[in-house]
Amino acid sequence: MPIIDRNLHLGVKIWLFFMMFVCIVFLLMWLFQVIFLEWFYESFKMRDTAKIAQQLIVACNDEDFETKAEDISIQNEICIELLSDNGKILYSNCIYDYHCLIHSESGGLYFYLKDLESSSTNTISRRMFDTDMQSEMLVYGCKLYWKNGEVAGYLFLNTKLAPVESTVSILKRQTMMITGILSLVGILLSILIAKYISRPLTQITRSAKRLAHGDYLAKFEGGGYAEADDLAEALTYAATELSKTEEMQRDLIANVSHDLRTPLTMMKAYAEMIRDLSGDNPLKREQHLNIIIEETDRLSLLVNDMLDLSKLESGTQKLNRTTFDIAVCMQEIVHRYEGISEQMGYHIYFMPDESCLVYCDESKINRVIGNLINNAINYTSKENKQVFVTQKNTPVGVRIEVRDTGDGIEEDKIKLIFDKYYRSENHKREVVGTGLGLSIVKAILKMHEYDYGVNSKLGEGSTFWFVIRDVVKDDESQNE
Ligand code: ADP
Repeated sequence: MPIIDRNLHLGVKIWLFFMMFVCIVFLLMWLFQVIFLEWFYESFKMRDTAKIAQQLIVACNDEDFETKAEDISIQNEICIELLSDNGKILYSNCIYDYHCLIHSESGGLYFYLKDLESSSTNTISRRMFDTDMQSEMLVYGCKLYWKNGEVAGYLFLNTKLAPVESTVSILKRQTMMITGILSLVGILLSILIAKYISRPLTQITRSAKRLAHGDYLAKFEGGGYAEADDLAEALTYAATELSKTEEMQRDLIANVSHDLRTPLTMMKAYAEMIRDLSGDNPLKREQHLNIIIEETDRLSLLVNDMLDLSKLESGTQKLNRTTFDIAVCMQEIVHRYEGISEQMGYHIYFMPDESCLVYCDESKINRVIGNLINNAINYTSKENKQVFVTQKNTPVGVRIEVRDTGDGIEEDKIKLIFDKYYRSENHKREVVGTGLGLSIVKAILKMHEYDYGVNSKLGEGSTFWFVIRDVVKDDESQNE
């Protein structure tokens, strides 16, 4: 279970975190500076005294031991007693102007020696209260050994423990003051930080709600820190993309409904004309019926293209790859077109390369080449009416090109022509088309992951191309 309720306002959460932090600081200060201060002081003092004892043990055999011991004694305000193994005092130095606690009657060197004998660590440390000095004292003792392990003597150190009660009470008051100040600073800081963090987020949320209601002009502003700026930037980007999608959808509906409505209107109009006017005139009736048939073709072409494209884009159609000779396949396609186009005065020139086996979806590649030839026929120059279809076997694959000698495509339109329902604004109605031909080409080539493109120059014509990468090498085909 979370310590802090998830639904709390960010400002309140930050304040709570700050308060938790203040409490922890307060607790630590209270523990270290008040409750355990005496314990810390004593254990530090004990450790320091043990270190001094070590220094003295090292200096024991030095000739100038006495001078060194005196220096140590003065520097550390400590009494030193060095005894032989039978308890005889070898060296004694007491800096306090009272009899040394170690061999005083009250302390009793005898008891310390006894304690030391029974100590498993060979050291003792005792806290004593000196009634003469009215002060707490610390006594430290340790055994000295010869090299052969026999006891050589005893070292006792005696130092005053400073009273910590007054320090504790001062620290207590200080800790309380610091806690108060920290709490106040914590509250102020948390309010400021919460405002600093939450203000841009509140603004962004407000704008996001506007965006959700379709206001694509909603402004997303960051505010002083990178995360909010990034979020605002990402949402601004999302808003522009959403507005583009909405615009595209609007255009799409407008285009589709226009393309569907026009043939329907024509068909209705001509059917009414036959009913009301030309029904008895066989010549006119024939003409009008032909127009109705043409419009029906146009409509079914559009509907079929729409269905094909949606199937391709939805991913429901899978590639049915087979191995076939692309040169033969292209020859057949061109042959199919030759008959129709020659009636209309068009010339399709096919420039094949050597026969080459490829491994791809034949009917879909057929569709691509067919769509490109259709477009080339539709948009080639009406003067010389020529279309060139080329097969080039290259090291990276079979490059197929369809070239016309028409008006070409403006540079800024080239990136649009492969979009759904895009038709140049100046296209003529007699050019039969749905605006979906190149989208179908793009969808099929993308499914195959083939490179494609168009090179076009205004006034000179366009060359649409793609590369079939899946070429079957001779030895591979023999293995099949
Ligand atoms: P459609 O030809 O049915 O309009 P497409 O998707 O096949 O639809 O082509 C989209 C647009 O690209 C066409 O309307 C036309 O403006 C342009 N286009 C396509 N092929 C050619 C070409 N060979 N020459 C000039 N423009 C072309």
